[in-house]
Amino acid sequence: MKLELVLGLEIHIQLKLKSKMFCRCSADIYQSEPNTLTCPVCLGLPGALPVPNREAIKSTQLLGAALNCKLSGFSKFDRKNYFYPDLPKGYQISQYDLPLCVDGHLDLFSKRVGITRVHLEEDTGKSIHENGLTLLDFNKSGLALVEVVTEPDFRTSTEAVELSKLIQRIVRYLQISDADMEKGQLRLEANVSLRKQGSEKLPTYKVEIKNINSFRFLEKAIKYEVTRQSKLFESGLMPEQENRGWDDIKSVTLSQREKEEAHDYRYFPEPDIPPMEFSSKYLKEIKARVPELPDKKVERFVRIYGIGVDTARVLCESLELSEKFEKASKETDPKRLANLLVNKTDLRNLDVDNLLKRIKVKEDLLDESALKVIVKDVINLKENVKAIKDYKSGKEQSIMFLLGAVMKKANGKADPLLVKEILRKEINES
Ligand SMILES: [Zn+2]
Repeated sequence: MKLELVLGLEIHIQLKLKSKMFCRCSADIYQSEPNTLTCPVCLGLPGALPVPNREAIKSTQLLGAALNCKLSGFSKFDRKNYFYPDLPKGYQISQYDLPLCVDGHLDLFSKRVGITRVHLEEDTGKSIHENGLTLLDFNKSGLALVEVVTEPDFRTSTEAVELSKLIQRIVRYLQISDADMEKGQLRLEANVSLRKQGSEKLPTYKVEIKNINSFRFLEKAIKYEVTRQSKLFESGLMPEQENRGWDDIKSVTLSQREKEEAHDYRYFPEPDIPPMEFSSKYLKEIKARVPELPDKKVERFVRIYGIGVDTARVLCESLELSEKFEKASKETDPKRLANLLVNKTDLRNLDVDNLLKRIKVKEDLLDESALKVIVKDVINLKENVKAIKDYKSGKEQSIMFLLGAVMKKANGKADPLLVKEILRKEINES
């Protein structure tokens, strides 16, 4: 029996905001001592009341609009109940049946991937396991977290990796998150199952691989699961519905616990936060704020600047680089600039002025054939005969005298190292 992969993604993105999702605590947690950015709300103390962060809602809707979703005019928060040490309230405020954004899509290569929903929730605290103890840091507790859920439209691990990268680029273009995977600002979960090739039906089970924090691990974990599940099918067994985690040291996925069905979370509407209503005028304004996204920019760069697709992709990898390129290209040849930026990564860190200066200096320098003419002139001058003789008899430093003469004749527009090289060659041949 030939099997095919059925794969959907859940992508969590930590929003870049001044404060947390439901309290005024600072969201700038990366330089802070453990448990210094907390308050009764994000510690889940009795009686504390959550107040939603307006900017977080806007950022989520902006992402939804960028992913071609319908933005809901009516939405609400719900409680997702479960017990875990890093969840102080015993529930997470999330969104269940009325998320902020639904029914979107993204085009990947020539394939369309469905975006089921984009919703907003709060992050949990962090458990640190040390010397047999579990330490808890609640600085992360209550940070605004967006979840993007895709349809099970992926048939290869490469497609899943490419879409995750695209979403990372999009949130960076929207400037709603740095999406730094090492900092946990972008976290991936993959729902992996297999079915008979050609079947239209969705499999009756899925294996959820949790908390993947690099694109490379995503690829490895999916490939591992495909092999593991295929073997089960081959021996006449059905893979179990469960959560698994990627263990990078052993390069395997390991079973964590049986997957909760939705009702296990006993979702119910968050009673402390009234439902949200958005006017069509407000939602229109959000949609109008979506900037030119990476894929569209790549197309435009190819069209306007006549550069190759791969070159344009590199330039559009980040918003900053793409903007730098466009600004600088007004002052210099875009094709040459594009090639330099692609091949010389150190140029990418310069600001536009310094970038242009560096490029200009190189543009103005005389090329090898022009330098050869000057070098020959200098060698043939009577006044330099002694210096040449000295150099030939082993006085290395007398080449500096000749170098000076060439640089003077070239009005300084020469690369000294290249001049030296030509001088040596010409003297040896003379
Ligand atoms: Zn707080």
